[in-house]
Amino acid sequence: AKDSGRSTFSFFARDMDKNLTERLQMEAALKEAIGTEQLQLYYQPQVLISTGQVVGVEALMRWQSPELGSVSPGRFIPLAEETGLIMPLGAWCLEEACRQLAQWRQLGFNGLMAVNISVRQILRADFFDLLEEVLAQSAIPADRLELELTESLMMDNVEASLEVVQRLKGLDVSLAIDDFGTGYSSLSYLKRFAVDCLKIDQSFIRGLREDNQQARSLIRAIVQMAHNLELNVVAEGVETPEQLAILTAEEVDVAQGYYLGKPMPASEVEVILRSQGVT
Ligand code: C2E
Ligand code: CA
Ligand code: CA
Ligand code: CA
Repeated sequence: AKDSGRSTFSFFARDMDKNLTERLQMEAALKEAIGTEQLQLYYQPQVLISTGQVVGVEALMRWQSPELGSVSPGRFIPLAEETGLIMPLGAWCLEEACRQLAQWRQLGFNGLMAVNISVRQILRADFFDLLEEVLAQSAIPADRLELELTESLMMDNVEASLEVVQRLKGLDVSLAIDDFGTGYSSLSYLKRFAVDCLKIDQSFIRGLREDNQQARSLIRAIVQMAHNLELNVVAEGVETPEQLAILTAEEVDVAQGYYLGKPMPASEVEVILRSQGVT
């Protein structure tokens, strides 16, 4: 038993070593990547269901590393949060997204630019300085910038988050609760957070089919509650016409997902904006 215990231990130790080496390598590579062509923002359309118009886009980071290949944000964002690299990375994302929106506004686009903000970023006092600076620099109306804060972020630090939300509303930026339904928030909390929009997590959309009444009544309950609180409802991860039809019937306001458009480079968004006579 002793022997097998030891070999188990060394197995894990070796494993941890490998993970650590990989992480250090990725951290170094990410540090190098910030401010270079390796990092890009892609944009995914948000479509107003009642008109079919693109009324917003969500900025999503893409990293093409020469050593590591394409790395998904699901891997490098958590690493950036743990190492603090999320500060320069998040600043770059915010600046780039607002610069891009200012450019699209010149084409007549009056929609939203949605930007994901992570915990580490938002709980830092200098985040507000950055935000004010970026808004001033890009000269976009503050309410055209929508910050997406995950439900779990807000529920893990309710008091701190309430304070942050209040300060953000003071700047007049728009706020969305991201991944709604995954973080156990209660109705009473939602009321206290003066956000503008609620994004239903894609895990709730995945199960939406004509023959699944349960999934459908969940959506119905969320929409009813959100509309009572005067929140806009966005469904993310919409992949099929069937899902879109159900969401339409359930009066969801905005849809986002592969069926309506994958995350795409800025040049492709521009083609869409020009073709819809922009809004
Ligand atoms: P998220 O904010 O929930 O973003 C939605 C994710 O769903 C994106 O993954 C998007 O590409 C994907 N998606 C969109 N439509 C569909 C669909 O129809 N079906 C399916 N299966 N997936 C769809 P992505 O781009 O890999 O980003 C993953 C996560 O990384 C994001 O989840 C967000 O939490 C984070 N992230 C991405 N960019 C940033 C950023 O600039 N800052 C921060 N803090 N987080 C970011
Ligand atoms: Ca998001
Ligand atoms: Ca989401
Ligand atoms: Ca998510």
